[in-house]
Amino acid sequence: MRRKVIAGNWKMNKDFGEVEQFFVGTNGVSFCDSIRGTKNEVIICPPFIDIAQTVRFTEGSNIHVGAQNCYFEKNGAYTGETSASMLIGANVEYVIIGHSERRQYFNETNEIVSFKVNAALKVGLKPIICVGETLKERQEGVQKQVIENQVRSSLPSISDLSNVMIAYEPIWAIGTGKTATPKDANEAIKFIRSIVKDMYDNDVANDVIILYGGSVKASNAKALFEMPDIDGGLVGGASLDPIEFAEIVNFNKKQV
Ligand code: PEP
Repeated sequence: MRRKVIAGNWKMNKDFGEVEQFFVGTNGVSFCDSIRGTKNEVIICPPFIDIAQTVRFTEGSNIHVGAQNCYFEKNGAYTGETSASMLIGANVEYVIIGHSERRQYFNETNEIVSFKVNAALKVGLKPIICVGETLKERQEGVQKQVIENQVRSSLPSISDLSNVMIAYEPIWAIGTGKTATPKDANEAIKFIRSIVKDMYDNDVANDVIILYGGSVKASNAKALFEMPDIDGGLVGGASLDPIEFAEIVNFNKKQV
């Protein structure tokens, strides 16, 4: 079911002490307390090493824990990798798959992304599948083909996408301070919905959760997340600061 979802991607940031600082807070209000009244779904995706601690700090709160990657094999001689079932065993509910940094620095292809999505779903781990074009592709006017290719090759061949989210992250907007305008982001996400409709059906396309990611901040979250096709955001840099991330999560909280 469509709802507003705010997911924080901590990337390779925060050691043990910094995770504690994030949750304990600095002004006497813990991070969990600062977002307690929200109706939005909140997900935090820490590095693997911080998962157990994040699970502990978020116990009994409305925060869900995600990972930033998983491997598609179940177990075996794959040094340095972590399987989807291991994540489930560690109380992880979501996993980001196909983030542009993984595609760029770790050579993840659409095929690998698709293997990982299927491996996650098989064990009940919910994938957040990232798609988006580079600046060059946008300037060359091929962004629609790139996005369509990514969406078609990454989505699973099951009829139900209720455990799948898509994140549209134009690569030129990630970590650069350049945000897509709400109108452009909404147009791209509407386009993704039209591909989902073609692959599945109208109901699936209307129900699938599609997030926007790329330099989301407290100052632009409301304008982006109130667009009709945008169901929330995947937030990188701004999710590292508990006060700013709480402001983003609370973008639609009524003032009293
Ligand atoms: C991301 O890592 O998915 C992201 C969108 O990063 P940032 O918000 O820093 O642009």
